[in-house]
Amino acid sequence: MILSIKNLIILTAIAGLVSCGNENATQSDESMIDAEAARLTLATDEPENWLNHGRTYDEQRHSPLTQINTDNVSDLGLEWSFDMYTARGVEATPLVVDGVMYVTSSWAVVYALDAKTGQLIWDFDPETDRAWGVNACCDVVNRGVAYYDGKIYVGTIDGYLIALDASSGEKLWDTLTIDKTKPYTITGAPRVVKGKVLIGNGGAEYGVRGYISAYDADTGDMAWRFYTVPGDPADGFENETIKKAAETWNGEWWKWGGGGTVWDSMAYDAELDLLYFGVGNGSPWNHMIRSNGEGDNLFLSSIVAVRPDTGDYVWHYQTTPGDSWDYTATQHIMLADIEIEGVLRKTLMQAPKNGFFYVLDRANGELISANNFVDVTWASHIDLETGRPVELPGVRDFSERVRIEPGPPGGHGWPSMSFDPESGLVFIPAQKLTGSFLEPQDPADLEYRAGLWNTGTNFVPDSLPVESEGATSNRSNQISPLLAWDPVKQEAVWQVVHKDYGAGGMLTTAGGLLIQADPQGNLIAYNSRSGEKLWPHWLQTGAGAAPMTYSVGGEQYIAIAAGWGSAFGVNSARSTKHYGLVNRSRVLVYKLAGNAELPEVEEPFLGFNAPVETVSADIETLEEGMALYHRVCQVCHGNRAVSALIPDLRNSDQNVHEIWQDIVIGGALSANGMASFEDHVTAEGAEAIRQYILYEATIAYKDQLEIPNRSDSVNTEN
Ligand code: CA
Repeated sequence: MILSIKNLIILTAIAGLVSCGNENATQSDESMIDAEAARLTLATDEPENWLNHGRTYDEQRHSPLTQINTDNVSDLGLEWSFDMYTARGVEATPLVVDGVMYVTSSWAVVYALDAKTGQLIWDFDPETDRAWGVNACCDVVNRGVAYYDGKIYVGTIDGYLIALDASSGEKLWDTLTIDKTKPYTITGAPRVVKGKVLIGNGGAEYGVRGYISAYDADTGDMAWRFYTVPGDPADGFENETIKKAAETWNGEWWKWGGGGTVWDSMAYDAELDLLYFGVGNGSPWNHMIRSNGEGDNLFLSSIVAVRPDTGDYVWHYQTTPGDSWDYTATQHIMLADIEIEGVLRKTLMQAPKNGFFYVLDRANGELISANNFVDVTWASHIDLETGRPVELPGVRDFSERVRIEPGPPGGHGWPSMSFDPESGLVFIPAQKLTGSFLEPQDPADLEYRAGLWNTGTNFVPDSLPVESEGATSNRSNQISPLLAWDPVKQEAVWQVVHKDYGAGGMLTTAGGLLIQADPQGNLIAYNSRSGEKLWPHWLQTGAGAAPMTYSVGGEQYIAIAAGWGSAFGVNSARSTKHYGLVNRSRVLVYKLAGNAELPEVEEPFLGFNAPVETVSADIETLEEGMALYHRVCQVCHGNRAVSALIPDLRNSDQNVHEIWQDIVIGGALSANGMASFEDHVTAEGAEAIRQYILYEATIAYKDQLEIPNRSDSVNTEN
C-alpha cells in the first residue's frame, strides 16, 4: 500500500494514541493493534478493497477505481449472482477484503463469498428467534458487517453482537448488548475504531432508551456505553454529560424510554480522534406527552462527537430541538474537507429526516450552513446565529389533524449518500411523501406498552379513500428525487426524479459514474456530472442498499445486495406494490463484458378477488377502524393495508374473516408471527378494523392494477 504524507501523519497519531491507552500491553501487541487499526484508517490506500461500511472512515462511499467508466459502462454485464437464504428486506453494503466478500441478508445471516466467482466460502446463521421480529418497526433488516484483524462482526435483530473468524465463519464470541425485557433491535452495521467495536440499536417507536456501546474487538468485553437520553433521575445519572442533558427534559420521560436510538450512522476522523454518530427520534414522538411540551430533550435528533477510546462527550449539534415528528438524525454522516469562502473547512454533512441539509465544522460542531433539500412545512429556515430551526406556527399542535412535510418517513431515510471529491457534489437519495397527517391519539391509549407502536400520535395516510376516485385512489403521488447537491451553495445542481418511494443508496467512482437502484428495481449508472442515464439492469427485485465496487486480479467489479422489503416493502408498499416487486434476496456482481444471466421469473399476481362481503359499517366506524388500523396494524401490514411481504389483508379469504376475532384477540395465528392483540384492541375495535379492510378491499377490487412499464420512470431536471 502507498502511504501519502497526510496518511503517515494520521498513522503516527494513531500509534501515539493507541500506546497511551495500552500502557501494559507488550510492544508487539501494540504494533499489531497499530497496524490493524491503521489499515482501516488508511482504507483509501486500498482501492481494490472495501474495508469499512462507507469504504473509508469519512463514509464518502466514493471509489478511486476507474476501469469501469463513462466511456465503457454500456459494456457492463452481470458476472455472477448469489441467492441468499432469507426472504425479507436486504439493506447491507458488502465488504471486500483481499478477494473475499462479506455480506448479510435479513435476520443477520452472514455470507463469505469468493469476490471473483461468487462461490460460497462459508455462511453463518445466528438462528434468531423469529418472534423477536414483531419489535422491528421497518422489517428484520441488517446493514452489514464490520471487518478488523481477521474477524467479522455482526449485530442481530435481537440485540447480540457476534464476532466470527473471517477465514472459517466460526463464532469467536458473542455478547448481549440490550435488556431483553425491552423491544430493542439491531439493524445497523457495527464499526471498528482503534480495536473497539461500536454498535447501537433501534426501537424508539416501541419505547426504549437509546445508547451506543463499545466492545473490545478481541474479547467482546464492554469498554464504554454512551446513553443518548437520561434515565430515571431517582436511579442517579451515569455521568455529568447525561446529568446536564436531563435539564432539557420535563415530566416523566423515562417511563416512555425517551428514544434517541443510534441505529445507523457513524463516522470517524483519525486526526481529530473524534467518533461521530447520529441519534434518533423521541419516544413517544409527541413532545407534549414525552416532555410536557417543554425542553430540547438532548440528545434526541442530534449528531454527537465522542472520544472513541472512552466514549467521553466532546460536542453535539441538535438538528430538531424538542422533536415531535419522528425526525431522526440517524441518517448517513459524511466527512469531507471542502473550501468554503476561500478556507478549507473540515466539514461533517448530513441530510436528516427533517428536510434540511447541514454542513458543520466537525472539530467543534459549529453550524456552517443549512438549507432545505426537499419541501419543508415545519420550519422556515435554520438560524445561522443560534443554529436552531425557526419553526412555523401550529406545527406542534396535534389537537386538529395537521399535515407536516416531510412526513415521518423523512426527506431522506437510511439509504446512503455519496460524495465525489472531484466535483464536490453530494448525492442524496431524497424522498417526498405527501398525504401524511398527524392527529392526537386518544388519551385512553397513551399508556406505555412495550412492543406496541407508542408514538403518541395517530399517523394516518389521509382521509378515508373515496371509491369514486377510481384507479388513482389506491396509488400515491410520492417521488424519490436523486439530488446532485452542491454543499457550498446549498442547492441542487441537477436532479433525477424517480416516480414513487423507495430509491436506493449511492455509489460514485473516479470513473465518473454514479450508481443507484430506482424504486422500480432497476440498477442504473449515471454520468455523475450531468445525470445522464448510461446503463440500466433489471434486478428482478427492489434494492435500497447502496452499490459498492472493488477489484480482484486487476479487474473492477460493481456489486449490490438486493432484496425488496424494509419500510418500502412492509409498511409503505402502497407506493410500489403495483410494480410487482417481490423479494429475491440476492447479491449481483457486474464487470465489463460480464455475460451471466438471471433465471427466468414469472410476474407475481397483483389482482384482487371480489370482497367476501359488503361493508356494513357507517362512515364514523370506518374512520375509527382506519385510525385504529394505522396505529396498531400498519407497521407490519402496511399503509392503507398494502403490503408486499406480510400477507395483504385486502385479499383475506372467507375463512380469515370468519375467525377474525380469534386471530386478532385470540391469537389463533400467533405461531405465524401474528400475535394476539387482546391487550390493545377491543372486540368492537377489531370489527371496525375488519370493516375498514373490507372497504379497502372493495376499492382494490375495482382498481385491479396491471404492472406498468418499470423503466423510464425518471425525469432529469437541470
Ligand atoms: Ca423512528
